[in-house]
Amino acid sequence: MSKKRFIAGATCPSCQAADTLRWWQEHHVEVVECVKCGHTDRRSPVAQEASTKEPTQQDAQVIGIFKPQ
Ligand SMILES: [Zn+2]
Repeated sequence: MSKKRFIAGATCPSCQAADTLRWWQEHHVEVVECVKCGHTDRRSPVAQEASTKEPTQQDAQVIGIFKPQ
């Protein structure tokens, strides 16, 4: 079960209400929800970090094909 916690002092970016935002984790994704207007925001820091790592072997091959002479 995921725990939903209110974020103290946070302001909703959508309706500007204070102390209405709560967040929890869903499959390593942070979900923030405003209980007043229903605004939701998701972010996956784990996935973003993985995508910025060194290129795969396939990427290197594509770069080699388009390498100017
Ligand atoms: Zn809101």
